[in-house]
Amino acid sequence: MLNLEELRQAVRGEAQLNYNLAKFSSFRIGGNADIFIAPKDKDDVLNAVRFFEKLRLPYVVLGRGSNVLVSDKGVRGAVISLRENLERVEIKDCGDEARVYVEAGADLPALAVETLKKGYGGLENLSGIPGSVGGAILMNAGAYGKEIFELIEWVEVIRNGEVKILKRDEIAYRYRGTDLQNDVILSCELRLKKLSPEEQAKAMENRKAWMEKRRNTQPLSLPNAGSIFKNPPPDENGNPRYAGALIEACGLKGRRIGGAEISDKHANFIVNAQNATARDVLALIELARTEVKKKFGVQLELEIKLLGEFD
Ligand SMILES: Cc1cc2nc3c(=O)[nH]c(=O)nc-3n(C[C@H](O)[C@H](O)[C@H](O)COP(=O)(O)OP(=O)(O)OC[C@H]3O[C@@H](n4cnc5c(N)ncnc54)[C@H](O)[C@@H]3O)c2cc1C
Repeated sequence: MLNLEELRQAVRGEAQLNYNLAKFSSFRIGGNADIFIAPKDKDDVLNAVRFFEKLRLPYVVLGRGSNVLVSDKGVRGAVISLRENLERVEIKDCGDEARVYVEAGADLPALAVETLKKGYGGLENLSGIPGSVGGAILMNAGAYGKEIFELIEWVEVIRNGEVKILKRDEIAYRYRGTDLQNDVILSCELRLKKLSPEEQAKAMENRKAWMEKRRNTQPLSLPNAGSIFKNPPPDENGNPRYAGALIEACGLKGRRIGGAEISDKHANFIVNAQNATARDVLALIELARTEVKKKFGVQLELEIKLLGEFD
């Protein structure tokens, strides 16, 4: 059994029992975590992991919650939140490039803007991806032809209770996935290119255009978790296929179940239109999967992560 006082003594940072997670997910959906802890720094993350492992309590890490659907029944065991802590960033100029040390809780869009303003390029394509650097690494987040792993030098993780540094070539990564699923990501080093003033101006212009594109094509005024499904592999002729286009072709844009809706702006987004539950979102996920399979023979794979107890 967990004793909250013991946890508070072992780990610095906010610790709570039966803590509601809805405000920690961009969907604004979800029940309670049995245990919630927001460790103060990297040492405290390790202390928390060791504490929970000793008690054989399951735990999961939450970044900024922009790619998760939290169950209505909540999460059994502990949620380790890296939001608002572990945000250290150190930018080291190394001639024609910068080495950027970033802790996992740092905000990716803010980092992209900060580095670009300082004249370092590489993150501008990713600057509209909400969430933490740790979440982006776990998901190998990407946009507009670039993935975060292209910039990674090494990643610091907790694996089997020990802190390890993994070089990029020691990590398997792919489209929206990595083999870090059982690790806790603590920090990383990114390599960014030093830009000439002309390149910097161009990168800033590109960033602005990509942000504008997002505002025009994504339902950003309602709570959501980004793309629900990964894009399927190209068809037999090598043509790209998009989950959103397949769902739209099934006539599902605007379809509503409970308070959740398949966005009529972008069919690969489900929005929390009015007090949606995780159950509503799951029902739409199942509907989209069934209809796309029936019409196109394509099995859609989830991009978002389900957190907690689902039947
Ligand atoms: C409007 C919108 C637009 C989006 N656009 C894009 C896009 O263009 N491209 C794209 O790739 N994604 C996109 N996303 C999805 C999301 O922003 C990314 O996946 C993001 O990188 C997730 O980061 P996070 O901190 O929010 O992760 P979370 O949602 O908190 O977590 C995601 C997963 O990572 C795990 N995790 C998080 N942090 C750690 C850590 N430190 N150690 C171990 N595991 C961890 C969690 O357990 C969970 O399984 C979008 C989302 C929204 C809401």
